[in-house]
Amino acid sequence: MNEKPTYTIIAPIYNEVENIPVLYARVSEVMDQTGEPWEFVMVDDGSSDGSTAAILELKSRDKKVKPVIFARNFGHQIAVTAGLDYSQGDAVVIIDADLQDPPEVILDLIQKWKEGYEVVYATRSKREGESWFKLFTATAFYRLIQLVTDVNIPMNTGDFRLLDRKVVQVLNQMREKHRFLRGMSVWVGFKQTGVEYERKERYAGETKYPLKKMIRFASDAITGFSYFPLQLAMYLGFIAAGLSIIAIPVVLIFRLAGSQALTLIAVLFLGGVQLISLGLLGEYIGRLYDEAKDRPLYIVREDLEVEQDREG
Ligand code: UDP
Ligand code: MG
Repeated sequence: MNEKPTYTIIAPIYNEVENIPVLYARVSEVMDQTGEPWEFVMVDDGSSDGSTAAILELKSRDKKVKPVIFARNFGHQIAVTAGLDYSQGDAVVIIDADLQDPPEVILDLIQKWKEGYEVVYATRSKREGESWFKLFTATAFYRLIQLVTDVNIPMNTGDFRLLDRKVVQVLNQMREKHRFLRGMSVWVGFKQTGVEYERKERYAGETKYPLKKMIRFASDAITGFSYFPLQLAMYLGFIAAGLSIIAIPVVLIFRLAGSQALTLIAVLFLGGVQLISLGLLGEYIGRLYDEAKDRPLYIVREDLEVEQDREG
């Protein structure tokens, strides 16, 4: 058994074969400067581009590399969750595998941790090389989250952050299926602070967050931390009821003029509002259903676990 590491670095990896060697080299260079023992948990989220082999190759050379290989793609947030489950360090750092989060910033995070902070998140002061669409949707996303959720999630922070072991222990007990980790790590409380950094361009490859995944991520964030969409039906109901009183004289005039147009508009409007409200309800019911099924959050490929046990 290796000595217990002070730090765990977690990288979720989904088809990042070109980034893995550089990520490993840069993280190693930074972490070796701490002079303390550390481990690198690389979570392979069902990659199909040779990332798995690249991770296993690193592991064969360096005992600090701890691979967790998923049976299929479970998604970014779940991959990070698995990393937290497998981590052993007193402080745990989550970092993207595409080098958009510069590993050098880890030293700043550690510095704050040593000052006594238990959650140190990295805030993007600048974002390089991302499309206006990504920037626009990201800003809209953070605004919306601020507006409708009950937790005060800092603007422009991603999952790049350091968590104290105490925080990791609490997070590991929160087994909700639809996970929004940056919300969860604020919700738990503890002493929190931020460190600014410049978000870089991807080193290689392209984003693994297409619009569809972004929308699912945003709806997990909102439903996970707010009832606002459920209350929306009630607000819209009040508004429609209020409007209908005001509309009485207008309707009378239209009626006298022999027009049916208003009836059609009212039916379509209310029909739309009702369907949207039903859909929002459905979002919550679907999530309830997922919780009730209580399936495991992720599945690790068996052969590798056996191998880990043998060596560990
Ligand atoms: N990722 C993952 N599973 C997924 C999608 C992404 O593990 O299903 C990883 C990905 O390899 C990267 C990190 O999550 O290390 C962030 O993804 P990406 O860089 O594509 O997101 P973006 O920076 O564009 O928001
Ligand atoms: Mg990225």
